[in-house]
Amino acid sequence: MGHLGGHLYPGSHLRFNITLYPTMNLTDSVTFLPGIGSIMANKLVKLEIKSVFDLLYHLPFRYEDRRLIGSARGVQVGEGVTVVGTLSPIKNVFTKNGKRLQTATITDSSGSLSVIWFNQTFLSRVFNSQTQVALFGKVEFFGKKPALISPEYELVTSSDSIHLRRLVPIYPETGGVSSKWLRSKIYALLQNLPMDDFFPNRGNLLQWKQALHIVHFPNDLEEVNSARHRLAFDELLLLQLAASLHRQKWQKRQLTHPFKVDQERVLKFISQLPFNLTASQNQAVKEILDDLSRPVPMNRLLEGDVGSGKTVVAAIAAHVTHLNNLQTLLLAPTQILASQHYQTLSTLFKPFGVEIGLIVGNSIKQKVKSKIIVGTHALLTTNFNDVGLVVIDEQHRFGVAQRALITSKGLSPHILTMTATPIPRTIALTMYGDLDLSTLTGMPQGRLPVKTWVVPEVKREAAYEWIKSQNSQCFIVCPFINESETLTTVKAATNEFTKLQQIFSELKLGLLHGKLKAIEKNEVVNKFRAGEYQILVTTPVVEVGIDISTATIMVIEGADRFGLAQLHQLRGRVGRGQQQSYCLLFANEITSRLKAMETHHLGIELAEIDLKLRGPGEIYGLAQAGQAHFKVATYSDLDLITQAKAAAESLLPQLDKLSVLRSLVEKDKITLVQPN
Ligand code: ADP
Ligand code: MG
Repeated sequence: MGHLGGHLYPGSHLRFNITLYPTMNLTDSVTFLPGIGSIMANKLVKLEIKSVFDLLYHLPFRYEDRRLIGSARGVQVGEGVTVVGTLSPIKNVFTKNGKRLQTATITDSSGSLSVIWFNQTFLSRVFNSQTQVALFGKVEFFGKKPALISPEYELVTSSDSIHLRRLVPIYPETGGVSSKWLRSKIYALLQNLPMDDFFPNRGNLLQWKQALHIVHFPNDLEEVNSARHRLAFDELLLLQLAASLHRQKWQKRQLTHPFKVDQERVLKFISQLPFNLTASQNQAVKEILDDLSRPVPMNRLLEGDVGSGKTVVAAIAAHVTHLNNLQTLLLAPTQILASQHYQTLSTLFKPFGVEIGLIVGNSIKQKVKSKIIVGTHALLTTNFNDVGLVVIDEQHRFGVAQRALITSKGLSPHILTMTATPIPRTIALTMYGDLDLSTLTGMPQGRLPVKTWVVPEVKREAAYEWIKSQNSQCFIVCPFINESETLTTVKAATNEFTKLQQIFSELKLGLLHGKLKAIEKNEVVNKFRAGEYQILVTTPVVEVGIDISTATIMVIEGADRFGLAQLHQLRGRVGRGQQQSYCLLFANEITSRLKAMETHHLGIELAEIDLKLRGPGEIYGLAQAGQAHFKVATYSDLDLITQAKAAAESLLPQLDKLSVLRSLVEKDKITLVQPN
């Protein structure tokens, strides 16, 4: 930078005025601030700025170094430069083509430089003659002479410099909201912060007020990181506190029916199962039994990879519920899964003489009186009075709606949610901070990893021949087109089906999609299960959780449109028996992300990869749900997340005294998994 011959402006230290806005709260609307009316406030919403707090946490995405002061004579054409000097009176000039120019010269000890603005007639009112100003802009030829063109300006009257002569923050902008405008408002706000910090004992973190000053108006870039760190902590802390409050509220609910856990009878049940539980199944059972013996309702998430054996864990909890003479409701996301669970549980409970009920759609098939009732979410609209346990299976959003429905009925049963969606630890700690978590790690013995290949288009025919030669059963999943089962999806599946019928003319094929009637769906699945179909052509949405162990080949079309966690789910439909299974992925574009499927066989690893590559929104549907969107924090900083969680726990008991913190926690009604 030396070629400008300038010098670094001495670090401009910000002054703190004491003109307090005495009643300002951080949660107040920005319209509370001077110079922000409803029109501006509406524009700010586009930047997700509604409250004073939001404005403070609207952080620069970069800084422009305007510290270097050039000399008026030493400037070079093409350079951005700050010049400090005396400005001559502004002349308004009309050009031949009717434009208005404002011209002036700036003079410093080295000499003078022309300055030009376009169509800013008000400038003559901004500058009185002989004003000391700082100008920042680009030097270009104007006519034959170099000139500063449309520079940003600042009067050199105060000792503070906001827009020039410093590292200047550049913010995310939107129509009608410039960085310059944001800078002025945030600067003014920083001079009037109502307090130094909003919680005590901040450990090694920077003080709040200091962090805000640094992040918006740093003296050097090195200090910015620790300031952002502090502000990221705030976001995580607020989320954790909201989670803790939710949890507290949930635990204050009276269990409708307290349980007694008879360890011996549970052990007897377990010993009569057709297999031994894995170590992590045992651990999960223990955690669940602990919950069930407490007087507060359980709210636990059981996470376990596809095929890890969650159903039997739920069955054990259902058995305990049964021993307490109470009902268990098991909710499945689809009718097919409900029927499957019905069959599984009927087999499991047969030796104990427990009858299972099945309720799907509006066909209440049997036995509302059964102690264990399987069904789709329609189940919850039925009236049950002695429900002790609700199990929610494979629900993508982890049972938000279902839990809301349960609580809205004033019921407080134990709730166990189950998911095969692998949840990285950082996500579990943040998003699901209000749930207790049990994880099934290992797999039941004897499972072989599914051999997986990403197949290039040129090998498609060879792949079809190979499938024919395998003499096994095969799923073919049609491309994912839409989140929901639409007509387009169905059409795609139907077309594919017709095509495949010709290719596999020797084999029998079934077609499954969401627009089939429940009876038809069951029929198709049952025929496939019975071996009458060799190939099941299906849309992706219907078959989460299907357990057909004779199928050993999974073909996925348009695999690049799926998230890795989803692909893993689909792949998990095979490899459930003792035989070697295979997964063939066809894609328009073969990426290294997709290739990860060939080498990774743990859902959690694949989820971590997608978390890094695509962010949490894609995997967890959180973007759509508008949940926990951070401005500063990230989901990858496990240390900071852990620190925030610990801080939340220690601050929770004093929260009533920390009124600012409390109001911030309640501000956004941060949407967690647990609704209320
Ligand atoms: P998911 O966790 O995907 O819901 P399931 O509960 O459907 O998995 O279990 C998958 C299969 O594994 C079922 O056929 C089940 O009977 C079997 N299974 C579960 N636990 C064990 C175990 N400990 N040993 C052997 N097989 C098991
Ligand atoms: Mg399952």
